[in-house]
Amino acid sequence: MRIVVKVGTSTLTHETGRINIRRIENLCKVLSDIKNAGHELILVSSGAIGLGVGKLNLKQKPDDMPTKQAAAAIGQCELMYLYDKKFLEYNHIVAQILITGMDFDNETSNHNFQNTLNRLLELGVMPVINENDSIVTDEISVGDNDTLGAIVAKTAQADLLILLSDIDGLYTANPREDKDAEIIDVVFSITPEIEQLAGTKGTDLGTGGMITKIKAAEIAMDAGIDMIITNGMYPENLYRILDGEKVGTKFRGRRK
Ligand code: GLU
Repeated sequence: MRIVVKVGTSTLTHETGRINIRRIENLCKVLSDIKNAGHELILVSSGAIGLGVGKLNLKQKPDDMPTKQAAAAIGQCELMYLYDKKFLEYNHIVAQILITGMDFDNETSNHNFQNTLNRLLELGVMPVINENDSIVTDEISVGDNDTLGAIVAKTAQADLLILLSDIDGLYTANPREDKDAEIIDVVFSITPEIEQLAGTKGTDLGTGGMITKIKAAEIAMDAGIDMIITNGMYPENLYRILDGEKVGTKFRGRRK
């Protein structure tokens, strides 16, 4: 299977903005093992701004664009340094691709991106993709990595998109406020009711939230790709997904 895994800032960092070492080590181990089992993996990783904020010891995520972009430039190095080091322990090579919304709109860039992606996969390398936050502004950015993950999955004609989040899946109500909230196992189409369940709130360091995940689901489903939201706190959930267990919320891709 060709699988795109998107990992959010909240999975990679503590609330302090500092790296969650145990989590990243565990994630890299599981992903390496899945690659060893013969699957092709593409990692869409957030965390550049979050890690930059942590490294600069800033008290909170900056609001102004230049500081955000500076934090992304600093954090992206740290992120790739970590992935390179950890995956190498399991004999896997990673490659960084930084992309912007404009690149998907431009036919030549899009084509080049696809070629690079395919070649890396043929070479057995794991592409690690993030938005090139240092050069985009709100007007021209994809904006969030949930959407980026879905566009990458569509471009790469992946079989499955997995979003590792700080929540177990989509619930019938906000589980942080309503203890009777239940997880929804499968979503077959994005109805207004589903959109309403998404609420708005993401975490402080990331940019997503459930709304962007629903938007990602729409793109993936439309391209015939299944998408699963599961909790990134437990990277072993990836094994369970591949074993066919019911994990998180599955958004079923349109069958042709
Ligand atoms: N590209 C941003 C980063 O790496 C994150 C975007 C997102 O969390 O959705 O920090």
